[in-house]
Amino acid sequence: MMHQTVSCPLCKSQANWWCKQTDWEYFTTEEYFNYFKCTHCELLFIGLPPVNQLSTIYPPSYYSFVAPDKSIVFKIKEYLDVRLFRKIIKNIPGDSLNILDIGGGGGWLLNNIKHTDKRIASTAIVDIDPQCADIAAQNGHTYYLSRIETFNTDRKFDLIVLLNLIEHVDNPQQIIQKIGTFLSPKGCVIIKTPNCESWDARLFKKYYWGGLHCPRHWNIFSKKSLHLLTGNSQLEISKLLYTQGAPFWTYSLLVLLKGNRLKKDKRPLINHPLFPFISACFAVFDFIRGAFVPTSQMFILLKHKRDH
Ligand SMILES: [Zn+2]
Repeated sequence: MMHQTVSCPLCKSQANWWCKQTDWEYFTTEEYFNYFKCTHCELLFIGLPPVNQLSTIYPPSYYSFVAPDKSIVFKIKEYLDVRLFRKIIKNIPGDSLNILDIGGGGGWLLNNIKHTDKRIASTAIVDIDPQCADIAAQNGHTYYLSRIETFNTDRKFDLIVLLNLIEHVDNPQQIIQKIGTFLSPKGCVIIKTPNCESWDARLFKKYYWGGLHCPRHWNIFSKKSLHLLTGNSQLEISKLLYTQGAPFWTYSLLVLLKGNRLKKDKRPLINHPLFPFISACFAVFDFIRGAFVPTSQMFILLKHKRDH
């Protein structure tokens, strides 16, 4: 057990050692990584992010590179997401809307939402996969082949989407500042990211918590740390909603139950035969408990600060 302390990258307060973990989901490395939790803002972060190992830790089998599956759980999730997006888009003023999906792959989300509102004039994607460029073009989206860290544009967007992206980057504050400059004055940013202040995070801390997505999630926020994240940008949080985190329960439980046996066949854990069943059960469980307690995924809406 380590009892090391480091300084929090977000608020510079003391952060205590939280756990030590390795890649239980894609088995891309044997290395163990230390995680720390800030005593002030609650940020949970990886000690040394493997910034030079991106091509190793994101293998070709990585789920966001492959086409989404059409299981019943996926279809329900898709239906709920589209319903949420339709509501958000309806509330953005203007006659013509431009949408940008950062990390949007071939455009599976944009395909679903671009016909939900007649005012949607253009849809664009920023992502790093060259194969997705062709798919996106076939689907009628503009594709910028770039990491968000190096991406720049003079265009303004009325809706900017970052689904499960901000937890993967080295300097999330910088990304939020940058996005603020791409957003039209009345526009809105929607972010989906894990919540480190959830039951399952506490419950599986000693074993493996799926929210770590080790070693690919570098900063896992809580409601408190999200307010600090937007602090220096032009943006502020206008709404925070919790949503189901069934995959995290599933990863956590499979590692707890199967342990070292999983390491032998090195099959991505998302392809485990029990995955669809366990995640369907926990999607229902989280849907019910979500009415009473914060679950392990958050949706955050950001808008320009009112004094700007
Ligand atoms: Zn902190």
